[in-house]
Amino acid sequence: MELNAKIPSGPIDQKWTKHKFDMKLVNPANKRKYSVIMVGSGLAGASGAASLAELGYNVKCFCYQDSPRRAHSIAAQGGINAAKNYQNDGDSVFRLFYDTVKGGDFRSREANVHRLAEVSGNIIDQCVAQGVPFAREYGGLLDNRSFGGAQVSRTFYARGQTGQQLLLGAYQALEKQIGLGQVEMYSRHEMLDVIVIDGMARGIVVRNMVTGELEVHLADAVVLSTGGYGNVFFLATYAKGANGTAAWRAYKKGAAFANPCFTQIHPTCIPVSGEYQSKLTLMSESLRNDGRIWVPKAVGDKRAPGDIPEDERDYYLERIYPSFGNLAPRDVSSRAAKRVVDEGRGVGPTEVGVYLDFADAINRLGEDKIRERYGNLFEMYERITDEDPYKVPMRIYPATHYTMGGLWVDYNLESTIPGLFVAGEANFSDHGANRLGASALMQGLADGYFVLPYTMGNYLGSNKFEPVREDHPEVIAAVTGVEERIRSLLALEGSRTVMDIHRELGQIMWEYCGMARNKEGLETALKKIPALREEFWENAIVPGTFNELNQSLEYAGRVADFLEIGELMCRDALTREESCGAHLREEYQSEEGEAVRDDENFSHVAAWEYTGEDSEPKRHIEPLEFEYVALATRSYK
Ligand SMILES: Cc1cc2nc3c(=O)[nH]c(=O)nc-3n(C[C@H](O)[C@H](O)[C@H](O)COP(=O)(O)OP(=O)(O)OC[C@H]3O[C@@H](n4cnc5c(N)ncnc54)[C@H](O)[C@@H]3O)c2cc1C
Repeated sequence: MELNAKIPSGPIDQKWTKHKFDMKLVNPANKRKYSVIMVGSGLAGASGAASLAELGYNVKCFCYQDSPRRAHSIAAQGGINAAKNYQNDGDSVFRLFYDTVKGGDFRSREANVHRLAEVSGNIIDQCVAQGVPFAREYGGLLDNRSFGGAQVSRTFYARGQTGQQLLLGAYQALEKQIGLGQVEMYSRHEMLDVIVIDGMARGIVVRNMVTGELEVHLADAVVLSTGGYGNVFFLATYAKGANGTAAWRAYKKGAAFANPCFTQIHPTCIPVSGEYQSKLTLMSESLRNDGRIWVPKAVGDKRAPGDIPEDERDYYLERIYPSFGNLAPRDVSSRAAKRVVDEGRGVGPTEVGVYLDFADAINRLGEDKIRERYGNLFEMYERITDEDPYKVPMRIYPATHYTMGGLWVDYNLESTIPGLFVAGEANFSDHGANRLGASALMQGLADGYFVLPYTMGNYLGSNKFEPVREDHPEVIAAVTGVEERIRSLLALEGSRTVMDIHRELGQIMWEYCGMARNKEGLETALKKIPALREEFWENAIVPGTFNELNQSLEYAGRVADFLEIGELMCRDALTREESCGAHLREEYQSEEGEAVRDDENFSHVAAWEYTGEDSEPKRHIEPLEFEYVALATRSYK
């Protein structure tokens, strides 16, 4: 397997412009001769499908929900970054690029990140033109707020519903193309395999989730915009349906899986409250603009927060990181919370939590202002915890939130399978070992609106596509493989529910491959996960039948894949003998508990190649070069 990133030559700020000129074009009359499959209709998929259709390509778009409007993207709360510098506070394309490379702890590709920063402004213009109701200041200009890892205000937002509003914009662009017949939309269809013919991705096998029927869809190219795999941890902030199946099936067909262990643990979630909990809820990072994080100074202090005087509180982020304070990046803030909890200073009934306190902000700005900024988030918190955050501080703790790892892609967003492109959270992305807040929406929409429309044209214009029929042996083999797997899942008549096994997997992952990892723990996980997988295939129960709406079957298929993805994550974490960003190997940390990178040996992307059921995956590397942002120890002090 060859990892050729295809980074264009030339100065960093001219690479994308030059590349756009150098790439092949498809003339308008020829575009209608090409067909593209888009799997996923979240922000990356909906924007990509709409843009490709707008150009004139024939697009088929798939999602497993009953409407594209229900993609996980709808949950995004806090905002989307863009280097507009509307605040005149020192922002620029280069600063967004710099912050992102540094924020990712120097484990991302400079050229991709610069392109992302370059197109970020266009995303805001595009969305405003679509009518996305971004927050505005009194004078009517777009407002901004700050997110972690940046000292400028560059985050555009729509109250605490930014993802929903952006998705409505992308969805309407998609609907327009559906109405014009340029996009055929297949909701309630789950992709279960990629069809690769003569080394090129030429189609997919999907299951109609209502009838159970297997269908084949063929095209000239396939894009996966299928989101992240963080639900491997069972408890996460993800939509319950989010899964890694599409990416995993592509991996098994030859797409390299990059940096699988890079998982973001978000510092601002409502703490776990009990053993039978099935979901965690994010409180947006935007709250850290006005909320102050603290714990009692004394170990075991059980007093109510209001009874703890100011001088007995430890505003630990402000103390340790005075220049970034409560807006220290996610990995740094999460680890700091873990440290104070491990010291015995955690708060709340489980003592695994820290306070996020708005009292100062309410005194300074008034309750109305805070309600205007975060009203829906406060309401959500109160509904879940039955505590009024206008009166008592919120309790928060880190939780799994985002996967920086994903399918490896080159500069064109093409995977190691020619013709298989990957966009949004599903690719290994531009975020290195730690994503900065409000940058996922930016990346998904950059990929869909501004990158794929060019690079897809280049691919289609540069290749010849022989017609493919459904009786091609590779098509038949893919369908047979999917059918056999479904039958073996339905044959499981054991005594343990799939959810119970998934919960156990989540516990293993959280304990050994969560916020902190070490060699011994990862080796333990690498024994426990295969054993649990065996338990799944021997003792799980999957009720129902093939040709019906069968949510147990859908879930079982996804958990079966998580049981394999989890193992690759641990393997990757074990092999990366350094700490970087969210990947903290306890053996490689400073006295203060900060990540210590090993640039000499690990300044690379690790991309794993599938080599068969009974053999170990092969690790390849793509070396990373830092020409424009000098490698340095991250400091937010
Ligand atoms: C609570 C929360 C708040 C967040 N807030 C922010 C924020 O403020 N700012 C920010 O930048 N980021 C935020 N994020 C992260 C961000 O929302 C996601 O990273 C981003 O929306 C992912 O978009 P996507 O298009 O890549 O994938 P998704 O939105 O996850 O869409 C995946 C699509 O793929 C489809 N799909 C998946 N598998 C299959 C399959 N096998 N077959 C068919 N279809 C399939 C799904 O149906 C769906 O349409 C937040 C995340 C969460 C959980």
